[in-house]
Amino acid sequence: MKTLAWLPGLIACLALVTGCASLQPPAATAPRAVNATGTPLAVTLSPSTASPLPVATRVVPTSTLQPQPTTTGTTDGAETLALVNGTLIDGTGAVSLADAVVVIRNERIVGVGTRAAVPIPDGAQVIDVQGATILPGFFNTHVHRGYSAQNLQTWAQAGVTTVRDLGTSPAPDTFANRDALLRDPRNARLVAAGPMLTVPGGYPMVPWGMQGLVIASEQDAVVKVNQLLDDGADVIKIALESGSTFRRQIPVLSKAEAATIVKTAHARGVRASAHVTAAEDLERVLDAGVDDIAHMPYDHVSDELIARIVKAKLYWIPTLELWQHVGISDAPIIDNLRRLVAAGGQVALGTDYAGYAAQFELGMPLSEMEAMQKAGMTPMQIILAGTRNAAVVCSLDRELGTLEVGKVADVLVVSGNPLQDIHALASVRLVIHNGTIIRQ
Ligand SMILES: [Zn+2]
Repeated sequence: MKTLAWLPGLIACLALVTGCASLQPPAATAPRAVNATGTPLAVTLSPSTASPLPVATRVVPTSTLQPQPTTTGTTDGAETLALVNGTLIDGTGAVSLADAVVVIRNERIVGVGTRAAVPIPDGAQVIDVQGATILPGFFNTHVHRGYSAQNLQTWAQAGVTTVRDLGTSPAPDTFANRDALLRDPRNARLVAAGPMLTVPGGYPMVPWGMQGLVIASEQDAVVKVNQLLDDGADVIKIALESGSTFRRQIPVLSKAEAATIVKTAHARGVRASAHVTAAEDLERVLDAGVDDIAHMPYDHVSDELIARIVKAKLYWIPTLELWQHVGISDAPIIDNLRRLVAAGGQVALGTDYAGYAAQFELGMPLSEMEAMQKAGMTPMQIILAGTRNAAVVCSLDRELGTLEVGKVADVLVVSGNPLQDIHALASVRLVIHNGTIIRQ
């Protein structure tokens, strides 16, 4: 029997953070989270009441990046922006490209490549990035407290232009809140699961007292998943937590119920993510047929299970920052990740922001990235986890995740070379979100 001395703390802390979210509908109140030391965190779950910027608004460039144009816009009224003199890491996995140009027209990328290969349209607003690195906007694919303009703006300012909220309490206005937040271009894009699907008496009601969406049978699963998707869920999150992590038995969805939930989501083109924390529940994940695993288990995952997960093409979201905050030895967790990557597994960047009462990094998740490096991931692999792979996990890979012609322009420009030092990702010079410059 493992001794999990950290658990009482985890239970108490999570009850504070997620219980708070679960018991009060996001729009009705603005509950305050409390961190481990009891200090209230400035967190709001209600959308900003500030007037949204019109989508077409562009911030006029400042002198720091030396804009060169004398005119903006083109004869047909469309806005064209060209970033020049950058080093491109396009998020496809291709080697970086020196003297690169990215041309954006309205919200889309219309040209990307070397200066010699990509013409700058007449009348474009040209920004010389002076050798800085141009990357896709990043994602955090596992957060909570995403229904907050303040949080979303902090993420966006750091170049994390999309986040995926993997669990809030059931509330009638969850997706209306999301839609309101999406209308403000200053906010990072919010991909929303709404509530976690579980069984009566299951996780997260046990042990946290947090509310989930309760599934009573296979038939009920079909009805409730369809309803949740009609309401506007972008992804379905299911709890597959049988309790060993908490040294108790927690009722869990049957194999048939879990598979029905996932099948119902897939029939409507929606992906499913599974909460697990222990290796012994990974069989359930494989049986359910979900698309991603929302945590790396804290205990040893066998090579055989890793091979099956790789073969099933599941994406894995390590949430190493969560485990750091919990304070347990990260050796098995790091070792699981190392062997997953060595076996060809797919990793997406995600931290479980606010899934524990600690000061998670709100912005570019550098401590998560440092831990990924500890597991042997290269800076390029980490960048792909935070861009292309994360876009797949969020079902946004047709629109985002790479800098390619036709994609939506979410762009991060940083000083230095993140392939040499991943911390360069925090040296933000420019952020473009949906084609709009939101930080310069
Ligand atoms: Zn979580």
